Amino acid sequence: MATDEFSLIAQYFSDCGAAGDDTLLGVGDDCALLAPPIGEVLAVTTDTLISGVHFPHHSPARLIAQRALAVNLSDMAAMGATPRWFQLALTLPDSDQNWLAEFSAGLNAMACDFNCALVGGDTTRGPLTISITLIGSVPSNQALKRSGAKPGDTIFVSGTLGDGAAGLAAVEGRLSLSAEDAAFLEERFWQPQARVVQGLMIREFASAAIDISDGLVADLGHIVKASQVAAVVAVDKLPLSPALCRATAAERRLTWALSGGDDYELCFTVPASGLAQCQKLITDGLLSATPIGQIIEGQGVHCIDGQGLPFDVPRSGYQHF
Ligand code: ADP
Ligand code: MG
Repeated sequence: MATDEFSLIAQYFSDCGAAGDDTLLGVGDDCALLAPPIGEVLAVTTDTLISGVHFPHHSPARLIAQRALAVNLSDMAAMGATPRWFQLALTLPDSDQNWLAEFSAGLNAMACDFNCALVGGDTTRGPLTISITLIGSVPSNQALKRSGAKPGDTIFVSGTLGDGAAGLAAVEGRLSLSAEDAAFLEERFWQPQARVVQGLMIREFASAAIDISDGLVADLGHIVKASQVAAVVAVDKLPLSPALCRATAAERRLTWALSGGDDYELCFTVPASGLAQCQKLITDGLLSATPIGQIIEGQGVHCIDGQGLPFDVPRSGYQHF
């Protein structure tokens, strides 16, 4: 880029996040040199955010940075892996110093919160696009995959569902809300709290996991497909936030909880042998999670209402193509 790409990188991206002993060489050379813990395998994930597609044009730079890292951290959480390093491929329309200062401050704050370090990337000119590759590690054979669910397992979700979709609607001015509810829901959209700590906890007993980025039905659909099983979800059991309930009528909040997307909560399955351990974490207040259904033999995700009757699910997950 024109205003000296190298000084831009040095100023804003050379010291971002929390570099530990496992970073042998970070930003500045042709490659980063990383030392994963002995006995662990690498977990690697990439997510890209495009202005106008994944967030509204002219959104605050700090929030864009945090969301870009959070969505990657959420994938790490769903694997039960510990985040360690990330690479940033940044495409900018221009080199606006205020924007860059805000962006790097937001990125730094979240990277420090989750104990990972920016170790390299690429900087180019073009329509605003942020692509982050996050690298973590997990003990061999302990990663939580999508393919481990078995008939009889209980399905849980962390946190509350539907807030992300409501938050986007709030950001876009499509909801009329109290200031307090607007703040809560908008934060749920912009700063989803990646469930990394929870991912490490459930790794002990869960049989499968995924993070909910495209909506519960779509993402649980990936688990049942990979595991060659079916799921029954009781829609009256879905955990909904008070703000979401105040913001919307019943039908719409269920639509958002089932297929709204952008929640970045975990959906995981627990075999009977792990239920007591899971329940204890919940009772002790260490894990916020709710049982919402069962894995059964068959195919697909089936929703039922409070009477046990089939519940028609509105359109499922966002797809780019
Ligand atoms: P090369 O031409 O060897 O690929 P670059 O000129 O693209 O190297 O980048 C120089 C250094 O700055 C590399 O270490 C690269 O990883 C790092 N880097 C480039 N862009 C970014 C960025 N947006 N964030 C963090 N590091 C970056
Ligand atoms: Mg390069």
